[in-house]
Amino acid sequence: MLAFSHQEHIDTYYYHTRNIYLRQPELRENLSCEVCVIGAGLGGLSVALELAEQGKNVIVLEGARIGFGASGRSGGQAINGFEDGIDEYVDELGIETARKLWNMSLEAIDIIDQRVAKYAIQCDWKKGYATLALNERRLQDLIAAEKAAEDLFGYKNMQLWDKAQLQRHLGSDIYCGALFDSNSGHLHPLNYCLGLAKACLDAGVRIFEQSPATDMRIGADKVRIKTDRAEVRADHLVLSTNAYITALPKRLHKGTARTVLPVESFIIATEPLDQRTADSLINNGMSVCDNNLLLDYYRLSADNRLLFGSDSSGKANMKQVMRRNMLKVFPQLEDVRIEYGWGGPIDMTINAKPHFGRIAPNVYFAHGYSGHGIALTGLAGRIIAESILGDDHRLRVFESLKVPVVYGGKWIKRAATLVGMNYYRFLDKYR
Ligand SMILES: Cc1cc2nc3c(=O)[nH]c(=O)nc-3n(C[C@H](O)[C@H](O)[C@H](O)COP(=O)(O)OP(=O)(O)OC[C@H]3O[C@@H](n4cnc5c(N)ncnc54)[C@H](O)[C@@H]3O)c2cc1C
Repeated sequence: MLAFSHQEHIDTYYYHTRNIYLRQPELRENLSCEVCVIGAGLGGLSVALELAEQGKNVIVLEGARIGFGASGRSGGQAINGFEDGIDEYVDELGIETARKLWNMSLEAIDIIDQRVAKYAIQCDWKKGYATLALNERRLQDLIAAEKAAEDLFGYKNMQLWDKAQLQRHLGSDIYCGALFDSNSGHLHPLNYCLGLAKACLDAGVRIFEQSPATDMRIGADKVRIKTDRAEVRADHLVLSTNAYITALPKRLHKGTARTVLPVESFIIATEPLDQRTADSLINNGMSVCDNNLLLDYYRLSADNRLLFGSDSSGKANMKQVMRRNMLKVFPQLEDVRIEYGWGGPIDMTINAKPHFGRIAPNVYFAHGYSGHGIALTGLAGRIIAESILGDDHRLRVFESLKVPVVYGGKWIKRAATLVGMNYYRFLDKYR
């Protein structure tokens, strides 16, 4: 499931509609730099771009292709806040720290706004997102979330919709209400990722593809990172390998992979829909997620396909499973063809909190975005860059979050993920 080394992009709708063609060389000679980043997804490219904009000499090592991982396959929904609900942060860390975290989650959306504009990235970035409630009790969760955002943080971009208001915009009658947020949004994740990679290259970052990091040695002032063919010496190292971190030997991640539980998620893309049909599904350009624990998420693409995703355990006939999930929401699509289907691991943590930090003074990591990585990768990149540049006060806020670890090897983790998913399925049904 987590094999990445020397792979090409998988076959997705995004891959077929990419608008930038980048091929970068393998690392074949020993090189030095100030910062080496492992992983050319949104996280790794964000930190590289932030540092290159400040004049740092940066090398990115990617084991497969730019955007090969979650960043090039995701639902593309950029959602503010955190997966586990900001009220938990108030209980754990107090109102001041929770407010800082909330504001940083809004900054994560601003970062997309700014980068799309500054680097003219063509990635169909569109605002508007709704969380949907499948029953009255879960509508109460949305009411509480809206109240917390407004009362505690003064956030005014959310509107609660009852069933009738929701149905003015969404052609499904299985939900009983929604929380609409006009600031969150969605984009074509691979084109955003490739746009960031191009901005990095233009700013002088050297990116090497098909160059998996296989070993590293951490010294007091230099880190040596080995690939199959050569070696990079750097003052700082950033591990931005997301769920794939669990495939690395422990000496490379020093145990930090223990917080990540990769959960498989799948997406299908329909054939392009005529404008009337597309409008009858979603008529205001928003993307949506329900608020189940194992959730459905969907949106229309720029060419009017329905991109429909669900968290699920992998089965041989995933396209059919996903089609059935889609028809529960939109039975009117019975005769519509499914043209693409793909999946990938989402980097969940047990308590759905993001995990950013250091495993040595000069070695940083960021993962565990728990379904909010489209936005939070930009923030992680920025605050790790700030720390490398000498100001770690925002990184320390994230380091203070408690993220539980799962002990045991990959089989124990796989078993824990399966048990967790079945438990979530049970809660989703009866909660
Ligand atoms: C199907 C799916 C749907 C999703 N939907 C959403 C969504 O709608 N909204 C949202 O916010 N999030 C979503 N996510 C999660 C989101 O995509 C991720 O959190 C985010 O992209 C993480 O970015 P990243 O750069 O950390 O990781 P990735 O994009 O996975 O990049 C990590 C890279 O590191 C490389 N790598 C790993 N190990 C090595 C090594 N040893 N040497 C060199 N390279 C290495 C990998 O090849 C990979 O390219 C989804 C994920 C999936 C899989």
